[in-house]
Order: sequence, then structure tokens, then C-alpha cells
Amino acid sequence: MFNRVAFLGIGLIASSMACAMRQQGLARTYVAAARRAETCATALRLGLVEEASTDPVASVKGADLVVLATPVSAYADLMRQIAPHLAPGAIVTDVGSVKGQVVADVAPLLPEGVHFVPAHPIAGTEHSGPESGFAELFQNRWCILTPSENTDVQAIDKISELWRRFGSKVDIMTPAHHDQVLAITSHLPHLIAYTIVGTAVDLEGALQNEVIKYSASGFRDFTRIAASDPVMWRDIFLSNREAVLEMLGRFTEDLAALQKAIRWGDAETLEALFTRTRAIRRGIVEAGQA
Ligand code: NAP
Repeated sequence: MFNRVAFLGIGLIASSMACAMRQQGLARTYVAAARRAETCATALRLGLVEEASTDPVASVKGADLVVLATPVSAYADLMRQIAPHLAPGAIVTDVGSVKGQVVADVAPLLPEGVHFVPAHPIAGTEHSGPESGFAELFQNRWCILTPSENTDVQAIDKISELWRRFGSKVDIMTPAHHDQVLAITSHLPHLIAYTIVGTAVDLEGALQNEVIKYSASGFRDFTRIAASDPVMWRDIFLSNREAVLEMLGRFTEDLAALQKAIRWGDAETLEALFTRTRAIRRGIVEAGQA
């Protein structure tokens, strides 16, 4: 599908893409750029890429596919560096968890004749770095593309096909819609997990030890989510501010209603909600997303 693929950032997502592409022979040459020489050495040692350097400009020269795969706050600076060196007809794509801010940062910096197809694979783990990647990460997961009305149709088709080859299902939507959907399905749950774990950490001595000891009673699942990369999640909250604040407002209202139901011994309200939420879980299992 491609001649030379350049991954800018080679962490969990880019290394998983490299593994999946290599497995199927989807490109001739794979190169990567990272911030630290150590990450470049690891990517080379693992055989993810043939070339790796701390210079993104060297990586994108002659590439027909460029994948932005750093935390989203680094995109604008990277684009300013690489834009003059992008090959005519090249496709730039990304994997960022937020789309409105990414499009606003990247699109104005694109040279004429270079196509931008923003993408977000709804797949991940709490692990980071090139050693955490694996080819099956995207299998049976969704990948959302958010191209603009003017994006080259062939470029959209090519990126859609790439994700389908990884075993993903592809959906197309506007960046604003993507950000709203992800605010409730991903960003708010992470915020809640960070809060609960933070609250537990602030508890004094003996009680804190009990939290770890008895974590299997529910807390443990939050700690997995709250172990996600701090920089990546800092960027997500700051770049999807509006949608997250909207969902957080709704959530705190609902939380206050539950608080009232517990205080007033309103068993009916509690049971009715817990019955509805149980059905949602069944739906997720049936959709194969569990
Ligand atoms: P990761 O494992 O932490 O890797 C990040 C990579 O970006 C590393 O190679 C790092 O290089 C490089 N990098 C970090 N800051 C940089 C900067 N300022 N300039 C240049 N390079 C920089 O990250 P990831 O989990 O693969 O996430 C990458 C992107 O995918 C993010 O935008 C995230 O929103 C999105 N995403 C993540 C998940 C997930 O579950 N993890 C899921 C879907 C989408 P060094 O190692 O040299 O620092």
C-alpha cells in the first residue's frame, strides 16, 4: 500500500501499527522519529523500523505516509518542522484521542497537495512505549476518521483500507461529534478513575493499606484506567475542554441525584438506575466490545 512510512512518535499505538503493517507487508520501508535516542534504539532493536532518529525532518523525507503518533500537544510543533519537507501527494494521518484541536492545529500547516486524514483508533492499553505494541491491538475495534469535506477521497479510502487491514471497523464523523462521543465514553471515565484513585491516595495510613489489600472489590479496575499515561491524558483534557466540561456537568447532576436517593432511602430510584445500567453492559458484550 505504501512505499515509505514515517511514524512520528513510536509508542504503544505507532509500534502496534508497525507490527500490523509488517505482518502483512503493507509498506516497503518503515522509519520512526522520537524525542529520545533511547526510544529510537529500542524501535530499531525490536525490528519495528529500519531507520530511527530524533530528527522528524529526516524521517519524513520521501515518505508517502506520515503518521503523527505523539501526545497531541506536540503535533503543531512537529507539523511546523516537517511541512516544508513533505513529499507532494503524501498522506498525513494521526492517531490522536481528540480531533477538533488536532484538525485546528494541523490543517492550516499542510502544504498544497498533501492530504490530511485524521484518525483515532478506539483501542489501547495503560502501557506506553515501543515495547508495549502488538499487531492484534486493533482487531475488532473501531477506528474513527474525521476528514473534512475537501479531503481527497482516495486518501480517505486508503487510510480506511489500512485500518480494515488491521482488523478494525471504520466509521467517519465530524471532529466535533467525535469529541462529544469520546468525552462520555472515554474521557469522563478516565477523569472519574483519576479522581477515585486520588481520593484513596489522600486517605491516611491504615485505611490506605486496606484500600490496596481489598482492591479486588472494585477499586482495582479504576487503578488500571488511572495508570494511563499522564502526559497523554493531560493533553486530552486540555484539548477537549468544552465537551468534557459539558459531560462532567451532566455527570455531577446525576451524582447529586444519587446522593439524594441514598440520603432519603429511595430504594426504587437506586434499583431502577442499576437495572438500566446492567442492560448497557449486556449490550456491550453482545456488540463484541467487552
Ligand atoms: P506513548 O506510548 O507514550 O508514545 C509516545 C511517543 O511520542 C514516544 O515515541 C515519544 O518519544 C514521542 N513523543 C512524546 N512527546 C513528544 C514530543 N513532545 N515531541 C516528539 N515526540 C514526542 O504514546 P501512545 O500511547 O502510543 O499515544 C500516542 C497517541 O495515540 C496520542 O496522541 C494518544 O492520544 C493516541 N492514542 C492513545 C491510545 C492509548 O490507549 N495509549 C489509544 C488511542 C489513541 P520518547 O519515547 O522519545 O519520549
